Amino acid sequence: MIPKSANTVIIGGGVFGTGAAFHLSDAGQEDVVLLDRGPIASGTSPQAAGQTGYLNVDPFAFEFGKYCAEFFEDFEQRTGRAIDFRQTGSLRVALTEKFKDELEASAAVPHLKNEVEFISPDKARELVPTFAPPADCRILSIPQDGYVEPKSVAVAFAAAAADRGVEIRTRTEATGLLVEDGRVTGVETADGTIEAKWVVLAAGAWVRQFGHRLGLNLHTVAVRHQAFDTGPIGDVSPGQPIVRITEPQIYVRPEAGGLLVGGYGYRPLSFDMDDFDRRFEISALEADPIYYQQLRDAATAFFPALSDATIVRERRGLPTMTPDGRLILSEPAGLKGLIVLSGCCVGGVNRSPGTGRIVADIICGREPWIDASVLRVDRFGDDYPTDASLRAHCEEFYAHQYHSIH
Ligand SMILES: Cc1cc2nc3c(=O)[nH]c(=O)nc-3n(C[C@H](O)[C@H](O)[C@H](O)COP(=O)(O)OP(=O)(O)OC[C@H]3O[C@@H](n4cnc5c(N)ncnc54)[C@H](O)[C@@H]3O)c2cc1C
Repeated sequence: MIPKSANTVIIGGGVFGTGAAFHLSDAGQEDVVLLDRGPIASGTSPQAAGQTGYLNVDPFAFEFGKYCAEFFEDFEQRTGRAIDFRQTGSLRVALTEKFKDELEASAAVPHLKNEVEFISPDKARELVPTFAPPADCRILSIPQDGYVEPKSVAVAFAAAAADRGVEIRTRTEATGLLVEDGRVTGVETADGTIEAKWVVLAAGAWVRQFGHRLGLNLHTVAVRHQAFDTGPIGDVSPGQPIVRITEPQIYVRPEAGGLLVGGYGYRPLSFDMDDFDRRFEISALEADPIYYQQLRDAATAFFPALSDATIVRERRGLPTMTPDGRLILSEPAGLKGLIVLSGCCVGGVNRSPGTGRIVADIICGREPWIDASVLRVDRFGDDYPTDASLRAHCEEFYAHQYHSIH
């Protein structure tokens, strides 16, 4: 039986919803219910490459990212549940003068300069034997970065939240929100209504659609992202650093003896979730074979072994983009009791500990651990009044994700 009331209902069992459920219950909040229309981690989260990291010149993003990085380092001690995390470090590679200068400038920022170091192409080849860096590139080594099996994060957060009393209801779709006098008062589901003081909207690609139904223009757009895994390739080790190359906007990390390759800017495409059938699931998202081919060609120039590698898995999903590449996370003006948690900008796995902590601060009425006003849902004002203008800006940001280290 669905509960009749709760203090907090969370909609969405991806990394964001489960991260919020964990942080709320760990802060002692009782009466929390998490709903997902499918199983836990059945949306975009399990498709991710799971890279973690916090190289960021922006002080807010750096402080936020540091909490997340430290959380992943001792996830099991903090939650009691294990994840599959490897702190391999990463190599950020710049090929052209413009991006070499930017990399130098990032590495000189006071809060970063003791955490990173430049290494030679020979050293990079030693660390990643399948990588063929050009002799004149610049390579920044970032030892704290790593990767995690993304499904393990949502599953472990959900299990740790359940250990602390959260009621997890899978196969339960939220069909609407109840609003009274400028306040959200509950959630409608096919199995009945749950009255609630707080609702956390973490429904991934579907968040904008929820906003439309409430008359809110939430600036978060589903944009397709693709990656692929190869079968085993000689000389790949699970502990080798991730390689991120700025100009072709590709990332390459080890995965099960092969390489996982993803990238930005390849045929960016946004979606209006109302154009899909109501039963659409992320796992049914159609592949764009041209995007996959362009990605493979771009990566093969630096990883020649990819030319005849077998692709054993395609990953794709609908992360949410915002026009400025930052999360949206707050109550919207004029609607109390609703916390919108979206705009992962293809970094939701990495950011899920920090977003969960901010949600818990708001609901518990605690002193915030970080000034999250830069993430305010309403910060775009009347900019992007139409779907077309918003989608175009979000696609544009996605298309240049690696062209500034932000
Ligand atoms: C190929 C690829 C590579 C990526 N690589 C990385 C990476 O390296 N690092 C990183 O940090 N991120 C990466 N990402 C991004 C990451 O996957 C997302 O940021 C993250 O999964 C977003 O989580 P979420 O909880 O917002 O969404 P989701 O995981 O999609 O969760 C939303 C949940 O809401 C549920 N839901 C929707 N509507 C309803 C409803 N009406 N009622 C109940 N439940 C509902 C859905 O079923 C779903 O389970 C990658 C993504 C892709 C596709």
